[in-house]
Amino acid sequence: MTDTRALLTRLGIDPEGLNPGVYDGSFREGRGKPLESVNPADGTVIARIARASRVDYEAAVAAGLAAFPRWRMEPAPRRGEVVRLIAEELRRHKQDLGTLVSLENGKILTEGLGEVQEMIDMADYAVGLSRQLHGLTMQSERPRHRMVEQWHPLGTVGVITAFNFPVAVWAWNAFLAGACGDVTLWKPASPTPLCALAVSRLVDRVLMLTGWRGVFNLVVGSGAEVGDAMLDDPRVPLVSLTGSCAVGKAAAARVAARFGRSILELGGNNGVIVMDDADLELALRAVLFGAVGTAGQRCTSTRRLFLQRGIARGFTERLVAAYGRIRVGDPLDPATLCGPLIDGSAVTDFEAAMARIRREGGEVLCGGNRLDRPGCFVEPTVVRAPLGFRMSFEETFAPILYLFEVADLDEALRHHNEVPQGLSSSIFTDSVRAAERFVSAEGSDCGIANVNIGTSGAEIGGAFGGEKDTGGGREAGSDSWKQYMRRQTSTTNWSKDFPLAQGVKFDL
Ligand code: NAD
Repeated sequence: MTDTRALLTRLGIDPEGLNPGVYDGSFREGRGKPLESVNPADGTVIARIARASRVDYEAAVAAGLAAFPRWRMEPAPRRGEVVRLIAEELRRHKQDLGTLVSLENGKILTEGLGEVQEMIDMADYAVGLSRQLHGLTMQSERPRHRMVEQWHPLGTVGVITAFNFPVAVWAWNAFLAGACGDVTLWKPASPTPLCALAVSRLVDRVLMLTGWRGVFNLVVGSGAEVGDAMLDDPRVPLVSLTGSCAVGKAAAARVAARFGRSILELGGNNGVIVMDDADLELALRAVLFGAVGTAGQRCTSTRRLFLQRGIARGFTERLVAAYGRIRVGDPLDPATLCGPLIDGSAVTDFEAAMARIRREGGEVLCGGNRLDRPGCFVEPTVVRAPLGFRMSFEETFAPILYLFEVADLDEALRHHNEVPQGLSSSIFTDSVRAAERFVSAEGSDCGIANVNIGTSGAEIGGAFGGEKDTGGGREAGSDSWKQYMRRQTSTTNWSKDFPLAQGVKFDL
């Protein structure tokens, strides 16, 4: 049994009083409307938080702007050292923070702990990167000239996060931005403010000791009040937004209107293709984790399954049988594989989706109902549907898996790529030809294309993100760091002549 009070207290959260919704070097109660953090597994209030108002937002931006001139001139490896110390705090408090993630978000404990591990991995990566952030040298056409490309910090990075990864997505952005010399202002999603507060408490221990308060800031506030202010704010040159396609689309237009930059990590609608020659045991495990893990509330959750005709019937039977063994319930119980949805409106969305699926001719093979008990629980659901089923074009943020039968890889690819989103995808096959075709230019149109691995559970070393309505952003590994910096081309003339490029003459 988790002692919630003791857990919250250890993490610097007051279970009784009003908690601060602003961290900008010091923790302050915001002047906005107080917010209740509700446990989705039983509907109880975990704690209350004093949300930020527009005025609080202004103060937090000012704190970041005050810290930036000094932070950007701190050698990057020393910035990396601050990130390393934060990772040490995370290591020390992994169990507590991971438990809080489960409590507030509803994901099962192993996934809550995995999220904190992802933060630690991201920090380690950013620390290494802080000794690189490398540019290029180019050959100048002019004698005794040296031409280089180098990277400088941008300024304040606004980080707007979704509820479903309440701590890791901040780390993806903040640790890279911090190593790159930026300051960050975090606006977490309203269902998970305590996770953000707990992270900020850990961060503050390091910033206080190292003298870097003001580098990582937090405003817990509504999208309409604090989020919109950030989108329109020219003092925030980059906004990284993780969320639904609809919110991201509107946000991107606002940021672009002021020539700001955005990184968009939006909704997914991820497909798995299982070919006749696949290792079905592997495919089954991957589909179960992808479709049911995090109660279907990952951007990379498996939502569409394309089964080649030869194995479709047998695989469907095995899948439905496996769904029958999935335990839905308390996310902190080690036997549970599927926790609750985030809140009542997510359950309503699930029920509305099921009503439409039934109306439009989807065949519900298992699940399909909300569970009659306290908390936001629904049944993991499998729906057999004809190819091109309209409802399957939308991301319903719940454990609903659409199952389609396909004749061959051509047909599978055509339908796989027909949805608006383009985040993650995978194929299960033992054929080199099929696998290579899936990841080729005529294969999957997604940002992530896996072979014999499911759609969810990416490592941080690769660039993470998707195409089309998923927004085109990339975060975490590879060269994603470049988005947090500005590129500068610099040419130095160390000769005593003044030659012009392209042979232009301009002599007196
Ligand atoms: P959401 O779109 O409702 O909210 C996302 C964030 O945007 C929240 O912090 C919210 O407060 C904020 N927001 C809302 N309106 C705003 C406004 N007008 N101005 C500024 N900010 C505003 O999403 P959610 O329900 O929290 O998360 C689920 C969605 O996120 C799913 O669609 C999921 O696929 C997506 N997601 C994508 C990724 C990815 O990497 N591609 C990762 C996680 C989640």
